[in-house]
Amino acid sequence: MVNLVSQYEKIQAEVDQKILEVVRSSQYINGPEVKLFTEELSRFLDVKHVIPCANGTDALQIAMMALGLKPGDEVITASFTYIATVEVIGLLGLVPVLVEVDPDTFNLDVNAFEAAITEKTRAVVPVHLYGQCANMEEVLRIARKHDLKVIEDAAQAVNANYTFSNGDLVKAGCMGDVGTTSFFPSKNLGCYGDGGAIFTNNDELAISIRQIANHGQTVRYHHDNIGVNSRLDSLQAAVLRIKLEHLNDYTAARQFAAKYYDEAFKNETALLIPKRDPKSSHVFHQYTLRTRGVDRNEMQIFLAAKNIPSMIYYPIPVHRQKAYMDERYDAVDFSNTDALCESVISLPMQTELSEDQLEYIVNTVKEFLNK
Ligand SMILES: *Cc1c(COP(=O)(O)O)cnc(C)c1O
Repeated sequence: MVNLVSQYEKIQAEVDQKILEVVRSSQYINGPEVKLFTEELSRFLDVKHVIPCANGTDALQIAMMALGLKPGDEVITASFTYIATVEVIGLLGLVPVLVEVDPDTFNLDVNAFEAAITEKTRAVVPVHLYGQCANMEEVLRIARKHDLKVIEDAAQAVNANYTFSNGDLVKAGCMGDVGTTSFFPSKNLGCYGDGGAIFTNNDELAISIRQIANHGQTVRYHHDNIGVNSRLDSLQAAVLRIKLEHLNDYTAARQFAAKYYDEAFKNETALLIPKRDPKSSHVFHQYTLRTRGVDRNEMQIFLAAKNIPSMIYYPIPVHRQKAYMDERYDAVDFSNTDALCESVISLPMQTELSEDQLEYIVNTVKEFLNK
């Protein structure tokens, strides 16, 4: 799905030199690279605070801890997401309330969100799935009306832009009370190991997030809160600084590939190309098609035999996972989510896809459809 070697080769000289520099400096933890990276990312995203941490799952957990959510508090999120979003809700003793998604954008259905609000609801986690922002204008309006915290899971959407009706343009992860992301290697801004970050414009919250990520201490050996140990190391920060300089080009390369796929498949009745929300740009962490009347399993086998990887994100919705099943969901309509799990397929998407490769992929998909 992702070829990280050819991407690395293009920046190899710079990366190799920087890695050596960090190794020789011996400042592996909290070194200057970490501070510089977070400052640069904060300028890039135009957000006041970027707090680094160990991965995107930790980022979500720390964000929820910093917002002071308490066991029993209900947190609403989409059932069509990566498990990390829901996992941390459960780990903190909060009650996950899973809701339906919009079948066109794959993101939180705002009517289902509002309908799920109870007296115990304290927060909502919109996930910007596959690289396109959720309907944040409505999410924020509803959240404000019901006094809910908004935690954006922007792990798949770094560098996506969202334009509000008043013309304000804001980056994914920087609209809610707090946003989180992951620097897992295959993410749109990925390092060479694990990494994550938390974004906020709220000064007080930023202090609390920093404290929680660092064992609950602001002054060393003075632990004011129960915290965690979650750090981005200097080597990863050094790699991320270099890759951040290329992020706009990387995003454009993904968008080019998506446009190529769109053009090729727009008239295929068996495939629905991903719909764009005019308010959001799409940074295509994944290019995900919906299939109609296609044996998806056979399609994957056919593609694999021709050396084309494909993936199903996600084959089972969270409300059908053993760990998260609940009779509360018996009366909830998840027909969109269930249908998506049965019909979606993601094609290769990365920054180094050549036109020859794209042509080969679309021809092979068409060959399968016309078989
Ligand atoms: C990748 C991802 C995460 C978790 O990030 P990690 O760095 O792997 O912990 C969380 N949410 C979503 C939507 C993701 O895609």
